[in-house]
Amino acid sequence: MKKSMIISFNILAALIFFNCADKEKEVDEMAASGIQEKMAKYITVPLTADLSALSEKEKMMIPLLIDAAKIMDDLFWLQAFGDKDTFLNSLKNPMEKKFAEINYGPWDRLDGNLPFIEGYNEKPLGANFYPKDMSKDEFDSFIGENPELAEDLKSLYTVIKPSDTDKLLAAPYSVEYAEKLKQASDLLRRASTFADDKGLRKYLELRADALITDNYYDSDIAWMEMKNNLIDVVIGPIESYEDRLFGYKAAFEAYILIKDKEWSERLAHFVELLPQLQKDLPVDEKYKREKPGLESDLNAYDAIYYAGDCNAGSKTIAINLPNDEKVQLKKGTRRLQLKNSMKAKFDKILTPISEVLIKAEQLNNINFNAFFNNVMFHEVAHGLGIKNTIIGKGTVRETLKEHYSAIEEGKADILGLYMITKLNEMGELKDIDLMDNYVTFLAGIFRSIRFGAASAHGRANLICFNFFKELKAFNRDPNSGVYSVDFEKMQTAVEELSRKILILQGDGNYEGTSEFFSKYLITDPELENDLKRLTVKGIPVDIVFEQGLNVLRDQLLF
Ligand code: ZN
Repeated sequence: MKKSMIISFNILAALIFFNCADKEKEVDEMAASGIQEKMAKYITVPLTADLSALSEKEKMMIPLLIDAAKIMDDLFWLQAFGDKDTFLNSLKNPMEKKFAEINYGPWDRLDGNLPFIEGYNEKPLGANFYPKDMSKDEFDSFIGENPELAEDLKSLYTVIKPSDTDKLLAAPYSVEYAEKLKQASDLLRRASTFADDKGLRKYLELRADALITDNYYDSDIAWMEMKNNLIDVVIGPIESYEDRLFGYKAAFEAYILIKDKEWSERLAHFVELLPQLQKDLPVDEKYKREKPGLESDLNAYDAIYYAGDCNAGSKTIAINLPNDEKVQLKKGTRRLQLKNSMKAKFDKILTPISEVLIKAEQLNNINFNAFFNNVMFHEVAHGLGIKNTIIGKGTVRETLKEHYSAIEEGKADILGLYMITKLNEMGELKDIDLMDNYVTFLAGIFRSIRFGAASAHGRANLICFNFFKELKAFNRDPNSGVYSVDFEKMQTAVEELSRKILILQGDGNYEGTSEFFSKYLITDPELENDLKRLTVKGIPVDIVFEQGLNVLRDQLLF
């Protein structure tokens, strides 16, 4: 309401102060209102944490790590778009510039990567990892003709460039970005000299080597082996989602994290229960015959800096690393729950959503503990079920192809909730009220659907919503348009959906998954309208951080 008044006032002002024939001004005003709407999808929150547990030496590490993270940010700009400075300097409208910074380029990440700046086409699927005019077939047939180059061309750590002779060249990151990576490497090495914890020191030294050699294995092992560090830093080329052409190329990013020891101890306990939880899954024996890894650990952190890939568009609140399967087999994975980012999303997004869409009597059931548990067990649940199909068709990932990421996220969501229910029955999570988890989960579905169908999480939540609706796990009051959970039916729906997904995955049933998706991946007008009510209320979709030394200065000694 307020916003549309401001916009119409702007237009009115434009009419009064500028000649109506001044078309350019009118167009500017229209563009400005569009960008205002886009900016309203984000709310800025300061990214801070309690640093009092750090020693003076550890505090000295923070500025060095932030500088190294900033280099990852620059490198990600190069990978996602290209020349950041020329581009940003060309933007006159400050809000447009700010929005471009949030998106690391001229494409709106919360709106299917559509361009929001005049003169730009749709975002290239291969971002800036491949020559702009290179097609998928061209790449594949070049590899077909030059099989000896396949490994380099498909490597996580090379960028593909054209040559004069119609060839494709694979330039290693350590060469292509040599200067910046050398700087980042030096910063990590300097930071390592201040590390009190031996494990952290070793990891930083090896990570410094990795950045300039493209060989991350040893540093990943060292990262898994360090257990008592208070400061953690995830840095380097890590996830490959930015490469939507093939998913081969890793994007640079950094998180600087402070471990919350007390919460981490609480979490460690649940990892021990994984084998029991796997046994209790509501499916036939054959769908749960794999053993979940016990090496894995689960810790809670407060983040103090995000850079590059993880800072682009929507912000990650839980991580599961490393991605290297060789390291995973040897050491398992670590799941990192980013508590302060979660809390910010809970306070600024989930709570306001609940106030609009959840029945007043159930608002008491919305709380941060339940949200934290739901997200935490989502991460744990990725480790349950099976990775290989039961009929020898290969891995679930390979057989379900483009459906895999959404169904895997759906699995994690629903099994997470199933596990919470089981743990509560086992007397392990006895001081919780399951209704809190269910109602908070329902509110969370609305939050995630807003990420859109371009996001695996968005798709997974939409499927869950429609499945729950069919089984009447929630009711919607037609007069007030608010939702409430039906406790009994919710439990049945959670079990049914868990079973459905585990079986589709285990059978490697691509056709069945397609049918399942076309049945449940729909937004009916009623839901669309309810989601619109959130936008009208000005409830943001995601958060942006105010971060760095400015927000931490008071806590650091220099
Ligand atoms: Zn997940």
